[in-house]
This record gives sequence, C-alpha cells and structure tokens, in this order.
Amino acid sequence: MIKSPSLLPNILSTATNNPEKLEISSGITEEKILQLFVENSEDILILTNSEMVLEYVSKSLARLLEIQDMDFIGKKISSVMGNFPSLPLMKPNQRMVIPLISSITKRKYLIEFLFNPIYTSEGKIQAIFAIGKDVTDRELSLKKFKDTAFKEKELNQLKSRFVSMASHEFRTPLATILSSAMLIEMLMQKDFGPESKDKILNHVNKIVAQTNRLTNITSDVLLLERTIQSDTRIQHKKVLLSKFIQEMVTAINQENHDHRNVKFFGPDTEKSILTDPSLLTHILRNLIINALKYSGGALDPEVHLQVRGNYVEILVKDYGMGIPKEDQEHIFGSFYRAKNVGNIKGTGLGLNIVKELTKKLNGDIWFSSKLGMGSEFFVSFPVK
Ligand code: ADP
Repeated sequence: MIKSPSLLPNILSTATNNPEKLEISSGITEEKILQLFVENSEDILILTNSEMVLEYVSKSLARLLEIQDMDFIGKKISSVMGNFPSLPLMKPNQRMVIPLISSITKRKYLIEFLFNPIYTSEGKIQAIFAIGKDVTDRELSLKKFKDTAFKEKELNQLKSRFVSMASHEFRTPLATILSSAMLIEMLMQKDFGPESKDKILNHVNKIVAQTNRLTNITSDVLLLERTIQSDTRIQHKKVLLSKFIQEMVTAINQENHDHRNVKFFGPDTEKSILTDPSLLTHILRNLIINALKYSGGALDPEVHLQVRGNYVEILVKDYGMGIPKEDQEHIFGSFYRAKNVGNIKGTGLGLNIVKELTKKLNGDIWFSSKLGMGSEFFVSFPVK
C-alpha cells in the first residue's frame, strides 16, 4: 500500500514535529506503530509529491469511497478528486471542506482536510501531506441549522412587512368607514332635507369604496395563497394577443387614471397563444396599473408586444420614479415595497402574485429599472 515506505515515517515524524526515536520494550518498531496507526485510523491520510501525484492514500479513504487504495497511486490528485484545491490555494495548516463522491454508490462525503506542505532543506516543496476527517454529518447539520435560521429570519421579515402593510392599508379605510358611519348617524338625527340626503349618499359611497379596497386586499392575499398552493385552476384558451392587450389597455384608459393614457404598440401581424385569459389579464393589469401608479406626472406608460422566435414578449414601460437598486432583488417578495413609494398606496403583493401566475402559465418575468428614470417589466410566454 505504501509506495515509498521509507518516506512516510520520515514525513510523519516531520509533520508531527517529533523527530525523537521511541524506546519500546516489546521490540515493535516506531515504523510499525505508525503503520498500525495509519491503517486503523478513521482519519484520512494523503501524500502527494510536489507534482500533486498521489504516492499514498490511507485505507480509511479507500474504505469510505469503496475503492482499491492502489487505484489512486501514481495518478494526479485532480484526476481522481476533482474538487481538490491546486497547490497555490493550499496554505500550511489551512482547513478546507472538500466534497468527495463514491464512484460506486455515488454518495457524497464532505471531508475536512488539513494541508501540510513538506519542504526540502532548500525550501522547495517536497510533498504535500493532507489529513482529512469525514465531517458529512456535521456539515449537513450545520446547513440544516443555517437553513432553519434563514427561514426563520425570512418569516420574521415577512411578518413585520405584513404588519406594516396591514397597519397602513387597513387603518385608513377602517377610519374612513367609521367616520362616515358616524356622520351618517349624525345627519340622520337632523332634519332630513335634500342636502343631508346628498351628504349621506356621499358617505355611503365612501364606505362602499373603502370596503371594496379591503375586499381587494383580502382577495389578493387569498389569490396568492391559492396560487402558491397550486389551487388555481388553469383554463387554456386561444388568445389573439394584440386584440386582447388593446382591449385591456382601452378599458384601463377609460378608468381615468389622472387623465393619463397607456399607449399600446403591437406587431404587424396578429399572434395567438394558448393561455388562461383571466390569469393573463391579472398579470398585465397589475403591471400596467403599477406603471401608471408609480409614474404620476411623467410621460404616459407604454405596452409593447413583440414576437421573438417561439416566444411572445410583452413589455410594460414607464418613465416614472424607478426602483432603488437596493430594493430591486426584493420586489417580487410578499408585502415588499421599495423605499421611494412615499404616499402611493399599495400592499406589496401584486408583483408576488404576478410572478406566481406567470410561472403557472409557463412564462418568465424580469425587469430593469433606473431610479428617477422609469421601469421596464417584461413577461414572455411560449407560443405553442
Ligand atoms: P404595490 O401594491 O406596493 O404596488 P407590487 O407588488 O405591485 O405592490 O409592487 C411591489 C413594489 O415594487 C412596489 O411597492 C414598488 O415599490 C415597486 N414597483 C412595482 N412596479 C413599479 C414601477 N412600475 N415603478 C416603480 N416601482 C415599482
């Protein structure tokens, strides 16, 4: 097993800094003791020459990977252990966890190696001696612990974002509903002239509008939950995209969002896709309403439909406030709102739903945005 038996004890004694000879009365030589140690230890010992060619591997590694230890000898370490660091990366007494895979069971082991370059008297590297320990269980437990901690942190952040959203988004409508109800009560106690009737009607309208807003928020939360739980039923239909988007844009423009109009640019020839029209409406409507909502006072938003090979791409573009860089990676998360939203109302749920629904329709969504310049949201769907 030991290619150069005379070298190993020398190196071991160099590595352990114990050059003194042991006095053993049973007559067992120090060399034999070392051999017994390396053969029975669970630790993995590897010795390469200065060219990183394996000269020795302990039986423990061969046992772990279910190979013949001789299989390794004479081969470059990188050819049998692909993840092994190259010489410049190895620092004396540095610990490194390296994944090794059994060629038979394909099981992955995580081995923590400690590297020790051995130098000649002229200061050149003579050999590399590495001691390894199987730390698979330790590393997996650590990963599990980190994942749990990460999930818990995420959940806590989600909770505080929900509380912040709920306190902003529920308080105003509830306060309006309460004050309108109290005013109606007061007006009803007075004489009931046509003026009071108008005022009452006005307050009733306010109550209805705010109740609708609360209902919409609740529906969004439920829709997201259903989408994530895969409870949304998909009903595929052939959709003529240009016509579909044009009609949607016209309907949104009729809702009068501060007298602004969304512009639609379609391709010369109509393209149809097989999709769920109601989910597609939800996706595009959300993006278009956001484009209007976050670009008050700027140029009108645009919707572009483009055909790219086997995909259709819909771009919703605005020239509004844009999204700060540090918020960009989070905006598809639940209840997340960028720092620059100011007094603009919102729950931070829309894009989360849009992303989940796009996934359901086998589509893709991405965006680019520049603070103060505007945003471009892209969705693409395969044409089947
Ligand atoms: P909200 O109800 O807050 O609009 P969304 O989930 O639709 O929730 O969007 C999440 C956040 O992403 C918004 O609060 C806003 O900060 C940012 N955002 C989305 N669309 C745009 C846009 N077109 N321009 C600027 N910011 C946007």
